[in-house]
Amino acid sequence: MSIKSLKSRKLVILKYSFLVRLKGEIKTVTIRKTLSNRWYATFSCDKVASKPLPKTGKSIGIDVGCLSFLTTSNGEKISNPRFFQRAQKSLTQKQRSFSHRKKGSSRRNKMRIMVVKAHEKIFNQRRDFHFKIARKLLQANDTIYIENMNHFKSFRALNRSMRDVAWFNFFNILLFKAEEAEKEVVKVPARNTSQMCSSCGRTVQKDLSCRVHSCPFCGLIIDRDTNAARNVLRLGQSLQGAGALAPAMN
Ligand SMILES: [Zn+2]
Repeated sequence: MSIKSLKSRKLVILKYSFLVRLKGEIKTVTIRKTLSNRWYATFSCDKVASKPLPKTGKSIGIDVGCLSFLTTSNGEKISNPRFFQRAQKSLTQKQRSFSHRKKGSSRRNKMRIMVVKAHEKIFNQRRDFHFKIARKLLQANDTIYIENMNHFKSFRALNRSMRDVAWFNFFNILLFKAEEAEKEVVKVPARNTSQMCSSCGRTVQKDLSCRVHSCPFCGLIIDRDTNAARNVLRLGQSLQGAGALAPAMN
């Protein structure tokens, strides 16, 4: 591509980008071309005014897992969209078709763009879903306690479902939206949250296949993930010195 056409493309991008109302003072602008030949302009801005959401006086703990996208300490489960699995079949066909094309041919290049576009679509769907869930949680709560995910040594250590729902991306969106909404997200060190009883604090051993927390000490019978989410809330509140040893109920 010539310098001239590259410049004109950039101008078109900037023209359209400025139609979107930018907030704050622009610090940097990055022009990027994706593998599917789409152009994007990313603006990094300073002094962006916050958009506070009304205070609710409520706090919530979140547990992340494979079966649900997340479970809250109120017992609500948000199902896992599994965009990747749903699109897997079509993606596999496209990838197979791509690999059968002759190297260097235009048909192979066309197929490569189709594969990349399919990946981009999944990424965008997932990102929209993350924004929607973050907004819902922040509208209903002032403080959100989440498990600190740093204990996962690497992305590869997670299984495919966990990577699929891309927790790290979601938490980054949640942190960014919380700052904008003047709400708080607190990372809680993961300490035995799935095994500990959220009512009496005793340890109740269970493997991953056991989906119910049934405490022989205090009699609490509750969904396994809800129990973990309550522990995240309780640990977080105790770390902040609020409600220290009280059971983590909202
Ligand atoms: Zn108990």
